[in-house]
Amino acid sequence: MAGNGEKPVSLTSRKNSVQQHQVCILGSTGSIGENTLNIIQRHPERFTVISLSAHSRVDKMLAQCLAFKPQHVVMGSEQAAASLKEKLTAHGVTNINVQFGNQALCDIAKDDNVDTVMAAIVGSSGLLPTLAAVKAGKRVLLANKESLVTSGQIFIDAVKTSGAKLLPIDSEHNAIFQCLPEFEQHRPGECELADNGISKILLTGSGGPFRTRAVETLSAVTPDEACAHPNWDMGRKISVDSATMMNKGLEFIEAKWLFNVQPEQIQVVLHPQSTIHSMVQYKDGSVLAQMGNPDMRTPIAHALAYPERIDAGVEPLDFFNTKAFEFEQVDYARYPNLKLAIEACSKGQAACTALNAGNEIAVAAFLAGDIKFTDIYKVNESSVDKFVSERVDCIDDVMTLDGKAREFASAIVAELKEQN
Ligand code: NDP
Ligand code: MG
Repeated sequence: MAGNGEKPVSLTSRKNSVQQHQVCILGSTGSIGENTLNIIQRHPERFTVISLSAHSRVDKMLAQCLAFKPQHVVMGSEQAAASLKEKLTAHGVTNINVQFGNQALCDIAKDDNVDTVMAAIVGSSGLLPTLAAVKAGKRVLLANKESLVTSGQIFIDAVKTSGAKLLPIDSEHNAIFQCLPEFEQHRPGECELADNGISKILLTGSGGPFRTRAVETLSAVTPDEACAHPNWDMGRKISVDSATMMNKGLEFIEAKWLFNVQPEQIQVVLHPQSTIHSMVQYKDGSVLAQMGNPDMRTPIAHALAYPERIDAGVEPLDFFNTKAFEFEQVDYARYPNLKLAIEACSKGQAACTALNAGNEIAVAAFLAGDIKFTDIYKVNESSVDKFVSERVDCIDDVMTLDGKAREFASAIVAELKEQN
């Protein structure tokens, strides 16, 4: 089946038949990938796993292959692919096509036998396979926010040209999507929010694990402390991003592109309980919010079955045992990375691409114990300053700038490591 394969569903046919989807999961061994497989396992009549990908975790991929029997698997290296093949053979499984590398990732993302692609690779490594899915006109379930942050208009133009159906997985963007008029849900990147009476998008964030910790102690934060998010269980990179609130910054830029809004129309609101996942404010004074327990299976199930609703295995929200909702202004002295990202959003694509690349290098160095938590901001700020005036007109420009910014950020990391 070519293209996004989505047929219009009438109200009567919704009752009698279920939509079936052939699914590719890019990054299936990660936190989003595993939650996606959890939903798929609950609805075998709706979803068939065609292909999976991982970087280096062979044993996790082996278990997924045995449980879901995909046709194709892509690993990050020849060695990981060979190791997986050997283990599959030892289990008597010889009919899975195991490949490795970026071209193979793009191939499974645009495969004619797939109509739905979950883009759940972490970082800008997800950009090319996600774009391959977009260009092939798939239903693209976008968790990999970094791909949209690094390529912005280029990514959205590819969606418009191919007619791909973009469905946000990030809980905030999925919440905003759910609060939009249905007509606008079908026009990612082209929404006309003002014409629909919308005045503002309210992007909520919990503030992460250090919302109340003394700012002067933040330089001593350890990787494990930074990854201990109070409400969400996520991969380590996004957990650190949540602790610095760079995650909210990346989401700010993601929201600009997904919903075609200007930075002035997005307001970040701290909501420590993460029960409200984001809101849309209308001109008549109405505010629509999407709520639920903080469990990524909700947005994943929403996007997988869209426009239908399916069981996600998520505990229903119990209003009588829920903590009181609190809201706070953002303190940018505590979260300078968020301010940097909001400013980058107005400065243009080069600032956003360089910021994302610098941040990926800085977070990896922090997780490896090479730099301090507070050094992440230093790397990020220098990366934006260095590359803000570069031109980014096409995907090759994005890849070139991403590479240069990584090299530059790595040199700053080396200096900081020396000083520590
Ligand atoms: P994880 O680190 O848990 O998983 C990342 C996945 O990508 C794994 O399958 C990993 O393989 C694979 N991977 C890692 N590096 C590469 C690479 N260089 N090339 C190809 N594949 C690679 O991340 P999350 O699931 O937490 O996040 C995935 C994406 O979803 C991120 O962009 C994140 O911002 C976004 N997101 C995540 C949320 C969450 O709750 N976790 C919420 C909202 C958005 P391996 O296992 O072999 O290392
Ligand atoms: Mg989010």
